[in-house]
Amino acid sequence: MAFDLSKCDFSRCRGECLVRCPYVSYDEDDAKSAVQALIKGERHPILKECITCAACNDFCPRGADPWDLIAQRQEETGVLGIPPDAKPSSDWLTKPATVVRRGKSGGPLISAGGIYEVVPQAEFLTGQMFEDATIIGGGPYACGFTETHLGRASRPVKFLPQFIENLAKAAAEFGVDEIVFTHDACYNVATTLAMQRGVEVPFRPVHILEYIRNWLRDHPDRIAKPLGIRIAVQGGCTTRLAPKGGDREIWSDWLADIFEMIGVESVEEKRVYTGEDRLCCGCGIFHANHERAVEIQRKNVQDAADAGAEELLFICPACITVMRGTCRKMELEPIYITQMVKRALGEELGPAGAAAFGYPVK
Ligand code: SF4
Ligand code: SF4
Repeated sequence: MAFDLSKCDFSRCRGECLVRCPYVSYDEDDAKSAVQALIKGERHPILKECITCAACNDFCPRGADPWDLIAQRQEETGVLGIPPDAKPSSDWLTKPATVVRRGKSGGPLISAGGIYEVVPQAEFLTGQMFEDATIIGGGPYACGFTETHLGRASRPVKFLPQFIENLAKAAAEFGVDEIVFTHDACYNVATTLAMQRGVEVPFRPVHILEYIRNWLRDHPDRIAKPLGIRIAVQGGCTTRLAPKGGDREIWSDWLADIFEMIGVESVEEKRVYTGEDRLCCGCGIFHANHERAVEIQRKNVQDAADAGAEELLFICPACITVMRGTCRKMELEPIYITQMVKRALGEELGPAGAAAFGYPVK
C-alpha cells in the first residue's frame, strides 16, 4: 500500500486510473492532471469524489497504485468529512480481544477480525464445517483496512507489526500454526501487505474460501444436494488486495472450486460490472453520502439480476451488511458464503438466515 511515483509515467498510459473509474467522468487529460495535482500535494476534486473502492490500483497499467496516493491525500486533508458518529470501525478497534466461541482442541482457529459484530458472524460460522473451530475477534485482531474508507489509510500499515504479533500470540495460545480469516481484508493484510512491508508472519494465513474449499474436498460425502442455482458474486474492495494466482486474484479459483462442488453456476461472465470493473458496495460513503451509495448498489444489483442471477453471493461481512437492504428491496436474495455452503450440506441456516435479514446487528 504505497503509491510508486517511479512507475507513474504519463507518456506510457492513457490515464486509465481515473478514466476507468466508474464513479467519475474523466477523460485522459482530466485524469493525468488530477494525478499530477495529487503528486504535487495539491487538493483536487477527485479526493472528495473518490469512494475508496481501490479499483484504480487495478486499472493503472503501470502498477503505480494510484489509489494509495488518493487515500494518502484524503488522510492528509481530512477531505472526506466523515462525521465522528459514522466511524464505527474506530470503536471496533478499541474492543478487547474476545473468544467469540471456544472450539475443540486441535480444531481450526478462526479470526473474525475487528468487525465480528458487524454481522452475527458467530451464527454464520456454525454447522459441520465449523463444529471444532475456535473463533476470536476484537480490536487486537483488527487489520484496520476498514479505516481506508474513513480517511485514515495509514492505519493498517502502522498497525501491521502489532496485528501480526497479536495473531501470532493467539496461534501460540491455541496451539495452531495457521489462522483462518473470515474477512479477506485481514487475510490480504497478513499476506500481501506483510510481504510488501517485509513483516514476517509466523503462522500460515488461510482465507475463508480456501478453508471451505479444502473442507469440501475432504468431505465430499457431506454434500447433501447440489444447489442448482445461478449466482452473481459481490467481490469487494479488499479482494483487490489479494495475492495474485497467475493473472487472477487467488480467491477466484477457490470460489470456482466451491461452486463446482456444490452445484452452483456463476453468471459473472454475463455481467457488465465484473472482474476489474466490479462495483463497490458503497460502504465508504454509506453514512456520509447515503443516496449516492444506494444508487451504486442499485446499479450493481440490477446488473446481477439482468445477468440471470437468482442470488447475490457475498464473501465480505461488511459488503453484505450495507447491501442487504438494497438486495431485499430489489428482490435479489443476498447470501453469505458460509450460509450458501451450509444449504448444500442440508443444514438449517439458523436465526441469522441467508444474510441476517431483520436480524439485530449491534
Ligand atoms: S497512476 Fe497509472 S494510469 Fe494513472 S496517471 Fe499514473 S501511470 Fe497513468
Ligand atoms: S479508488 Fe475507486 S472511486 Fe476512488 S478514484 Fe480509484 S477507482 Fe475511483
